[in-house]
Amino acid sequence: MATTPEISVAARAKYEPVIGLEVHVQLLTVTKIFCSCSARFGALPNTNVCPVCLGLPGALPVLNRKAVEFAVLAAMALHCRINQTSIFARKNYFYPDLPKGYQISQYDKPLAEFGAIDITSSGSQKKIGITRLHLEEDAGKSLHEGFPDSAEKTAIDLNRSGVPLIEIVSGPEIASPDEAYEYLTRMKEIILYTGVSDCNMEEGSLRCDANVSVRPRGQRQFGTKTEIKNVNSFRFIRDALEYEIVRQIAVLESGGKITQETRLYNSAEGKTYSMRSKEEAHDYRYFPEPDLLPLVVDEKSHAEIRHSLPELPEARRKRMVADYGITDYDAEVLTASKTLADEFELAAKAAKNPKRVANLVQSELMGRLKAKGLEIASSPISMKGVALSADLVESGAISGKMLKDLYDLCFERNQDFPTIYENARPQQITDPAAIEKIIDEIIATNPKQLEQYRAGKKTVIGFFVGQVMKASKGQANPQMVNELLAKKLEPNA
Ligand code: ADP
Ligand code: MG
Ligand code: ZN
Repeated sequence: MATTPEISVAARAKYEPVIGLEVHVQLLTVTKIFCSCSARFGALPNTNVCPVCLGLPGALPVLNRKAVEFAVLAAMALHCRINQTSIFARKNYFYPDLPKGYQISQYDKPLAEFGAIDITSSGSQKKIGITRLHLEEDAGKSLHEGFPDSAEKTAIDLNRSGVPLIEIVSGPEIASPDEAYEYLTRMKEIILYTGVSDCNMEEGSLRCDANVSVRPRGQRQFGTKTEIKNVNSFRFIRDALEYEIVRQIAVLESGGKITQETRLYNSAEGKTYSMRSKEEAHDYRYFPEPDLLPLVVDEKSHAEIRHSLPELPEARRKRMVADYGITDYDAEVLTASKTLADEFELAAKAAKNPKRVANLVQSELMGRLKAKGLEIASSPISMKGVALSADLVESGAISGKMLKDLYDLCFERNQDFPTIYENARPQQITDPAAIEKIIDEIIATNPKQLEQYRAGKKTVIGFFVGQVMKASKGQANPQMVNELLAKKLEPNA
């Protein structure tokens, strides 16, 4: 285990962190942003390339309309103001995977500004501002591995060169690593709902650079920041920030100064390392891209894109609480992905009691998934299955205990609930004489409830149904139980 710099609790309490995140999200267009090459991930190296994305002299970029639509959609979902006119700019720098010597991005006139993401921080709501959201092209990729003859070699794959990205820059308003984690989780959730990206971190569709500084509590002026790059999970970002905060405080407490620099996080060691001192922004010599017209998003396309904006997680949670009588926490779990929420709503509408569907997810499904290390998306029991099981419990056809056993079987055999239930379902008792016999016994042993029923308290029938189902170990046909009971409970029966 790496040695983390030691600081006292008092020193930690003396400072407050300031965090700002820059997130790159790859858009799910079929083709690249300025040419018609495929933007698909995973093709053989350098097979999706042309003069434009190879950066050959004289090749001219043509803007992909779909990339703009996707970027606007994401910006709207993040409550940004869309600028009617935005400008593409050249960001000049040398890097082996950037053959043009510049990246086409946006600078002082970005596509969108002034957005926000709502997060929960220590139980209360907080808004984190989004300073800007702009469109840009991705660079190529340097491959340092997979050369059996020499470990020293690096190869360049330009398939990624020209793939459309949006960069989403937060204000320096994130106050802790936990808030950063929450901000990223909410952002990913929102972007996934819009469908403009798959946000797959392993494939680099979502990448985050984390900027962090510390300042004595109460001081207005920001401290010098460092930027942590190349962190490929939200959890690692949280850990890297925590490490970096402690490191910076230790430097300041021992009388040192923070150098503005880019640092790399080594997740195996849980430490950050200096990579290079940060170039000043003006070093990029931004200037307007002469080969592209200003980007205009007129009112008409604005309205069209807004129209395709789906209901977003936050609004959906509120509506689901109202529609199905479920708790905020239920709604939180059930909207974790759009697919899950869609499935739940279908199931809840079909089921007799939506609240029971939500409860079963909470009480029976989540625990079993966790034990197997499964995401809800790969659950053997579908939402439809949960809905069926809820109905069966509701009608008394199966007991809570049987439901648990059946769920266990589903997980054991990796089969959905309807299949398992069909095979394992107990022999139903459909012989009226047998059911009547049980009913007679139950009525005889519950004279008080019988009296209540006959005095007009018709809901007591539920009690009798429950007792009969229990006595038959859940095997009596529920519909027959209901019908026969209704007859037997009448005064002249
Ligand atoms: P740079 O030009 O160095 O990239 P920007 O002004 O573009 O800096 O900001 C990049 C990110 O860093 C933003 O998310 C911003 O909120 C954040 N940031 C800026 N200053 C600080 C600071 N002193 N401490 C922490 N984060 C900061
Ligand atoms: Mg920056
Ligand atoms: Zn191309």
